[in-house]
Amino acid sequence: MASNPQYVMALDVGTTGTRAILFDQNGAMVDQAYKELTQHYPKPGWLEHDPIDIWRDTREMIGDVLVKTDTTASQLAAMGLTVQRETCLLWDKTTGKPLHKAIVWQDRRTSPMCNRLREQGKAEEIQKRTGLVLDAYFSATKLAWLIEEVKNNQPHVNWDNVIAGTVDTWILWQLTGRQVHVTDHSNASRTMLMNIEQRTWDQDLLELFGIPPHFMPEIQPSLGEFGKTHPDLFGHQVPIMAIFGDQQAALFAHGCDRQGLLKCTYGTGCFLVAQTEQELTRSQNQLLSTVAWTKADTINYALEGAMFTTGACIQWLRDGLGLIQSAADTEPMSKSVEDNNGVYFVPALSGLGAPHWDMNARGSFQGITGGVKREHMVRAVVESIAYQVKEVVDAMNKDGDKINLLKVDGGASKNDFLMQFQADVLGIPVERPEVLDATAQGAAFGAGLAVGFWDSYADLIGKRKVDRVFEPGQGQGKAQEHFQVWLRAVERAKHWTED
Ligand code: ADP
Repeated sequence: MASNPQYVMALDVGTTGTRAILFDQNGAMVDQAYKELTQHYPKPGWLEHDPIDIWRDTREMIGDVLVKTDTTASQLAAMGLTVQRETCLLWDKTTGKPLHKAIVWQDRRTSPMCNRLREQGKAEEIQKRTGLVLDAYFSATKLAWLIEEVKNNQPHVNWDNVIAGTVDTWILWQLTGRQVHVTDHSNASRTMLMNIEQRTWDQDLLELFGIPPHFMPEIQPSLGEFGKTHPDLFGHQVPIMAIFGDQQAALFAHGCDRQGLLKCTYGTGCFLVAQTEQELTRSQNQLLSTVAWTKADTINYALEGAMFTTGACIQWLRDGLGLIQSAADTEPMSKSVEDNNGVYFVPALSGLGAPHWDMNARGSFQGITGGVKREHMVRAVVESIAYQVKEVVDAMNKDGDKINLLKVDGGASKNDFLMQFQADVLGIPVERPEVLDATAQGAAFGAGLAVGFWDSYADLIGKRKVDRVFEPGQGQGKAQEHFQVWLRAVERAKHWTED
């Protein structure tokens, strides 16, 4: 640890953008730097990120937050890293150059490959070994696609020098001066290549997807030292003490370390994750079994409902349709109309995740009549976020104990209209904390605890404050009625593309 450490830095390398945040001895957020990331859509259903941009932004945000707070790297006790999951890339370890842009978790280009594997009867075995539903969402088919693409178009690549990784691995490799090629169990559990019981790369699956084992990073516990930042980067070697997938980090920040505790993060997608401790729970309702986090001698599992497109459709309203100027506009616009005026939106812009797992579903507006205004369309999009979460809460309720409170976080949870509508449609209270960046908070808490900057997880969790509890209100009846209509709209949007 640094001689007089004052802060822990969290790096949250998300889908929408990259954040560096400083947390002080009280576990409070001191300041942050943030930059939005360019999204590349080369074809319908495809989404890529430039790994060079991701690394450049990470470096810049670290520098910016240090400058803003007049801090030097020597005042940092540790760094914690949390990232968008499943997104993956290949790079040359001698040049540091990516062989292709990273394929993002929302990307659907490998749906045909998944369909072929399903036809070959592989889905059940894959689910048994990985805890995951066979879907283009996960890294395995994306890596297989990348290898094929590079083989076909870059004949001179020296494959001995190629390594692979998810975003955590790429950033860790860069932070450590290209020394450490490692991931953690929570990220590895999302690749569809890790055996969830043994917690090692599954050799049969690597073979099935044509991925040479030497491409893969070593898997380490989520909490513990991964390496130190290279001295040339920030003038000081800061230990990197925690790595989590973003959803697992948020679960950690909410204090969900016991069976039955759960949270829902409203970011690019929505992710409802329930802690199951040492028990590897298998869902009967299309939820995923995943690793929550690991320490040197313990493992915590979780059950997860992943909804791909929630905040992302708000971004689409802004950048694709130009119906809003900023994400925040959706709140006053939704409130300005009495209801959705019969309009329903199915947010299947990247297919549908839990509980449908339909890679061929596509987005649609339904129920449009002549009186429909921009505000109704916007409201229909916001409502669709809450409806998706309702479906997943229903699935969780079928799998286990009934959920009676929803703890939330993430960028879109600052929308009061959405949170009230969520409470109404669920019929249970929705609890929003003061700090909505639970993802970053989780990475900081993990790193600070692992390095001994803080000594009590319970104290850190105890200090978190609730901002507001949204109780189900007068809108309940109507919201729940409209949910039933929305389910019909979903049926019509399913199986839209054929491949
Ligand atoms: P991620 O970690 O997935 O990058 P964030 O937690 O940073 O996501 O949240 C960003 C997402 O939240 C964006 O998709 C954005 O459209 C959405 N968002 C931000 N503010 C609002 C708002 N007031 N209402 C609805 N959605 C919002």
